[in-house]
Amino acid sequence: MIVGSGPAGLAAAIYGARGALSPLLVKGKNVGGQPNLATVIDDYPGFPDGISGPELIGLFQKQAARFDVKFIDGEVTAVNFKACPYEITIDNEKYLTKSVILAPGSTPLWLGLPSEQKLIGRGVSICATCDGPFFKDKKVAVVGGGDSALKEAYYLSKIAKEVTIIHRRDTLRGQEALQDQVQKSPNIKIIFNSTVEEVLGSEKVTGLKIKNVQTNVVQTLDIDGVFIAIGYKPDTGFLKGQIELDEKGFIVLKDRTKTSIAGVFAAGDAADPIYRQVVTATASGARAAIDAENYLDTLV
Ligand code: NAP
Repeated sequence: MIVGSGPAGLAAAIYGARGALSPLLVKGKNVGGQPNLATVIDDYPGFPDGISGPELIGLFQKQAARFDVKFIDGEVTAVNFKACPYEITIDNEKYLTKSVILAPGSTPLWLGLPSEQKLIGRGVSICATCDGPFFKDKKVAVVGGGDSALKEAYYLSKIAKEVTIIHRRDTLRGQEALQDQVQKSPNIKIIFNSTVEEVLGSEKVTGLKIKNVQTNVVQTLDIDGVFIAIGYKPDTGFLKGQIELDEKGFIVLKDRTKTSIAGVFAAGDAADPIYRQVVTATASGARAAIDAENYLDTLV
């Protein structure tokens, strides 16, 4: 059984099916995973002109279907790894399996401000691809300094009049190529050393109150929308108490793709706090399927 339908889960399914493991893939609530929100993926080998995230995921799904992977709509709500065969609860139905590949992925983080939560969908967004078109010729801000923030800012710069990146430190964390792209965009500016204290507006976003963390000076920025791009948390809540997780909730890998439970393997973002690329997720899915196949061979 494979838990998750992002690049890691789908790659594991393709390898598992070709290895005659008859995989069942549980799609989960974010079908297709994070790439399904990406306008263009420029760094997945084999697509010299780039490819949209949903299109790439569609190709992975088509390839998995060709090898007779069985897909299950639904979400894993509980697991019991205390004894083999392991019990997996999908919504209210229980399944038994001798081996599991966990690839549940991750979810974007919010700042956690009450004013931010109040205005979600009314100017506060987590996805430029989904909500960017609402801000044509308007002013928007992007919070964060990593790859996601730089990508979101660049995407928005082609729609909005002005994009302001607000970053809490004095240097960006994102890739050089993305930094370069942002710096060359005339309508993107960056405010460093600053945090968002409040999202302003009652019915919709009208501005941001931001504080310079070095001088403590607070200023108001007039904007129509704000995109939060400050990272992700692994979707591993259903695994608590069943396998070893680190303090941030990432699955701890013991050896290659093995978890703390024999026969339970992990792949993709939920087990990877570092690389988190489509290409690394697919590769880890393939590795987990090969490890699962080798493990199942030892049981017969
Ligand atoms: P990230 O690399 O963890 O960066 C998160 C950014 O948000 C950091 O700049 C961080 O600041 C800032 N931040 C975190 N919590 C914050 C808070 N509470 N308030 C204000 N700022 C906060 O996350 P990411 O950009 O989402 O990228 C995650 C992974 O996905 C990375 O490995 C990245 O390479 C990958 N990714 C790749 C692509 C691609 O095109 N290849 C696209 C998107 C993501 P500090 O810098 O101060 O920590």
